[in-house]
Amino acid sequence: MATRYCLLFVLAALAACGEPDPRLGPTPGRPAFDGEAALNLVRKQVGFGPRVPGTDGHAEQLLWMRARLDSLAPISEVDTFFHKTAAGDSLTLYNLRAEFLPDATRRILLLAHWDTRPRSDEALDPAVQDQPVPGANDGASGTAVLLELAEMLFSYPPPLGVDLLLVDGEDYGPEVEDMLLGARHYASSLGEEDRPVYGVLLDMVGDSDPLFPVEGISAQLANIVVQKVWRVAERLGYGEFFPSVVGERVIDDHVPLLDAGLPTANVVDFNYGPGNRYWHTPEDTLDRVSAETLEMVGEVIAELVYSGG
Ligand SMILES: [Zn+2]
Repeated sequence: MATRYCLLFVLAALAACGEPDPRLGPTPGRPAFDGEAALNLVRKQVGFGPRVPGTDGHAEQLLWMRARLDSLAPISEVDTFFHKTAAGDSLTLYNLRAEFLPDATRRILLLAHWDTRPRSDEALDPAVQDQPVPGANDGASGTAVLLELAEMLFSYPPPLGVDLLLVDGEDYGPEVEDMLLGARHYASSLGEEDRPVYGVLLDMVGDSDPLFPVEGISAQLANIVVQKVWRVAERLGYGEFFPSVVGERVIDDHVPLLDAGLPTANVVDFNYGPGNRYWHTPEDTLDRVSAETLEMVGEVIAELVYSGG
């Protein structure tokens, strides 16, 4: 998760909410998303330690993700790139991309960042601000949902093409010019051929006390995607946790994709603990992430995919 931008609490009546959808429930026959399995994938990532570029934890997680995607996806690739930060750090970064149903011309993009923040800037105690963030929610949660979804897409081929993208360098910072690095790199190489029709970003999707109002930039610039995702959540009975209100504008990995003309909605719970106090602190730990929340988000994304996008 990147940067708090400004507060904008505006009631927005999404067209989907005028009438109850008579087709309640999941698409018949589709597989169910396993939240406990996703939580195990969060646990695995946290066990590597912080996944800060250049560290052992980052390298170990990269190997683990590669092995998993190589075994599940028809096409899986690592895109290595480099970045020099404003402070002079030279970073080697890795985006992972997996294609399911690679021959399909209609494709959607699902993405999350897998790196974690090198410092706990938001911690109230200055003594811990130099510590890296554990990243159970901010990093591991979205990655876990996509890696669990990969297993599902392997076992049950989707009705359209699905590209999973795990981006690096989202949270390096401290300033925004040294953030969103993997999404910027992907966006810069996005051609007209094989371009997904839209994208959905998952960030901070594991909080055991979840709430997913519509992220403000997505509401403004990717409303067609917002309507798809929030309608699915309503149809599955999660309307209480996916309220049709517009919340904060959050500078995140969807911004470079929107700039490149790819409509992308950000599913983000930017209310992590009281007053968002676990965000970018050493308190972003495994015990604050729940299988139930991961399952809810995974179910929404699975339904989006298996209902045809
Ligand atoms: Zn973050």
